Amino acid sequence: MASESLHSPEPQVSPVFSGTRRSSTALTPLHFVIVGCGLGGMAAAHCLGRAGHTVTVLESASSIGEVGAGIQISPNLSRLLIRWGLGDDLRRASVKPESITFRRYKTGHRVGWTKWGDNMERDYGAPYCHVHRADLLSMLFKLASPYMTLFLNSRVVSLDPNLVEVTLESGRTFRADVILGADGVKSMIREVVVGGPDKPISTGDAAYRAIIPTSEMSKDPDLKPFVDHPEMTGWIGPGRHIMGYCIRGGQEYNLVMLHPDRGLREAYDVEGSVHKMRADFADWEPRVEKLLALVTSTLIWPLLDRDPLGTWVHPSGKVALLGDACHPMLPYRAQGSAMAIEDAAVLGILFSHITSRRQIQPLLEAYQTLRYPRTTETQLASRANQKIFHLPDGPEQEARDLSMRIGMEDSLREERGQPSLDGSAGNANVWADRTKNRIQFCYDAEEEAERWWNTSGKRGSMSESLTFNL
Ligand SMILES: Cc1cc2nc3c(=O)[nH]c(=O)nc-3n(C[C@H](O)[C@H](O)[C@H](O)COP(=O)(O)OP(=O)(O)OC[C@H]3O[C@@H](n4cnc5c(N)ncnc54)[C@H](O)[C@@H]3O)c2cc1C
Repeated sequence: MASESLHSPEPQVSPVFSGTRRSSTALTPLHFVIVGCGLGGMAAAHCLGRAGHTVTVLESASSIGEVGAGIQISPNLSRLLIRWGLGDDLRRASVKPESITFRRYKTGHRVGWTKWGDNMERDYGAPYCHVHRADLLSMLFKLASPYMTLFLNSRVVSLDPNLVEVTLESGRTFRADVILGADGVKSMIREVVVGGPDKPISTGDAAYRAIIPTSEMSKDPDLKPFVDHPEMTGWIGPGRHIMGYCIRGGQEYNLVMLHPDRGLREAYDVEGSVHKMRADFADWEPRVEKLLALVTSTLIWPLLDRDPLGTWVHPSGKVALLGDACHPMLPYRAQGSAMAIEDAAVLGILFSHITSRRQIQPLLEAYQTLRYPRTTETQLASRANQKIFHLPDGPEQEARDLSMRIGMEDSLREERGQPSLDGSAGNANVWADRTKNRIQFCYDAEEEAERWWNTSGKRGSMSESLTFNL
């Protein structure tokens, strides 16, 4: 999809949204080097390029691509994508799930259900979408490519934070005003920022991922309803769970099968054994057996995360992290890429206001201040779901299922036109909890950044107060 280097930074006018300024151009244009051209790096290239900065992106891979798997786009992310002009692409590529359903692993009985569909726009202001990762990547590539000079086959092997310079494996160096580490969960830039070795930790879980054609599912009356009524289905069992949903306009069904990580024997991103995968879910309900019978190949993906970092900004004030490099998380709240792209959106707005190079460090610190509580909260919520989904059969599991059933009753009550009793506060199905949903899904990264600028940033920069340390 990508050539060696893609340029022509011709600023595009981004759509104005709810009266907030979105596309101001920085009075002090900077050169950003972004390490990593994943979802976060690409979004950052778009947001910073659009703000008038020069962006160089260094990517170790030889091409831009994604694993064959689906990804969930919640309203806090779709809001940004639509505003950036991707509404039509998103509509074409995605499936809008009608609901989320949790099922008992052995019987398939429904224990939790929450209506999604149009309720997402109604309650949280933007749609919930299921897409293929490659489709999301290509949408972001379309946004970023006018603004970035991309170098493929360009693994960064060292960084001098004082010179603000990175060195590639080939020996070539790149100097910048700011270096952003968007190099994922195994980030090497993170080690420079924290000042020493810093490896991600095993979460104890690994994921098999697979995609099956829905044309095959539609031949089976037991599986056809998953195609005819697309939803996010979660089968939950002891130490394991499965998530399934339609992508690509309903042509494909994405399966993520979470199971205990068997360690180094199963490396990153390798073809997993379909036989082992089926064995992992051997005693699950008949529909799971049928779905897994349709899988012809699978990828295994060990799931890593780390505790929230002490800082995302190097003491030099010229190097910062974004995305999985600073807040890797379990995918159990489906928020990892949303957090990475929100980071990019905040950076874009903050650096659109820069008027002096002396503001670089304070702006990076403001970025961390704005983003840290939210990403930490989301990391912890994702870990909480690991425990909730994987409970062994017994009293705790029964209490969980009861809680989910109460949440389901509340959603069904609303379907019948009756008011919600309590908004399912604290429900074991976190998607039933309206307060938590509002916090997660109504968040507008660009508006948050703009608000900070208007309340603290602008004042600090004008009055030369400590906020900006000018
Ligand atoms: C099973 C699974 C399911 C998921 N489901 C969801 C979901 O439904 N919704 C959601 O929002 N998130 C989901 N996520 C999380 C999401 O995929 C990640 O959070 C997101 O991809 C992080 O983006 P990133 O740009 O920070 O990092 P990455 O996508 O990992 O990109 C990092 C890039 O940096 C490059 N790189 C690394 N080191 C170097 C170097 N030294 N030099 C140059 N380049 C380098 C890599 O090649 C890569 O291209 C899921 C994750 C998993 C594992």
